[in-house]
Amino acid sequence: MKQYIVAGNWKMHKDVQEANLFVLNILKDLLNQKKIQIIICPSYTALFNIHELLKNTPIGLGGQNMHSQSKGAFTGEISGEMLMSAGCQYVILGHSERRHVFGEADDFIRDKVKQALAIGLKPIICVGEKLDERQSGQTLEVIRRQCDSALSVVTEHEIQHCVIAYEPVWAIGTGVVATPEQASEAHAMIRKLLATKYSKSTADSISILYGGSVKSSNAASLIQAPDIDGFLIGGASLLEDEFVKIAEIVDEYLKQKES
Ligand code: PEP
Repeated sequence: MKQYIVAGNWKMHKDVQEANLFVLNILKDLLNQKKIQIIICPSYTALFNIHELLKNTPIGLGGQNMHSQSKGAFTGEISGEMLMSAGCQYVILGHSERRHVFGEADDFIRDKVKQALAIGLKPIICVGEKLDERQSGQTLEVIRRQCDSALSVVTEHEIQHCVIAYEPVWAIGTGVVATPEQASEAHAMIRKLLATKYSKSTADSISILYGGSVKSSNAASLIQAPDIDGFLIGGASLLEDEFVKIAEIVDEYLKQKES
């Protein structure tokens, strides 16, 4: 069964104390959203404390990145095993900031996906085109390349443990949100790729999230668009009211859909 997901990517924000306070302040409200999977991806230093606050709750915990190796001379890096030992079930991989600020190539992201799945972490695989790529009509080609590479190591059984996030680079942190039609078109294309590589029923069971300037003011129209199964949220996930409101919007949407 496909899950609807609301995930917060805190990027390099919130120290240990701020992170604790944030979660304590909104935990009760988040636990009221019973239809959706909520995931929080804080900074590494806050992971373990947040794990302590979230354990025995259905709220998921994720890292924002990891290395493709288990251990070694990789100063400044973190392994998937380390994320798991801090309580993570998820890890964001291939975020556009990793790709375009830190120069991570498709192959490296593919190796991370492979490693995450091998050790039992669920990867949230991010794909998305830059503005110039959209403007030159390459959106679908870029998404296909990124998906083909990341999924080249993923079996039909393993894809069930993956989440895909479509995050157009031009919409991340810019305040420019994709229209529901633009997001839907990309999501449908990803779903089609999944159906071709695996099967239609498998493709239909995978959560495809939209990310890029999601706020409580645009979440309702986006979540109603075909093939959008939730959100990966940066800026708005740092604001207590906003994050809770977006979770409520998605939860309410599901309640109405099912009634
Ligand atoms: C992100 O960083 O994944 C993201 C979608 O950021 P924002 O919501 O701030 O655009």
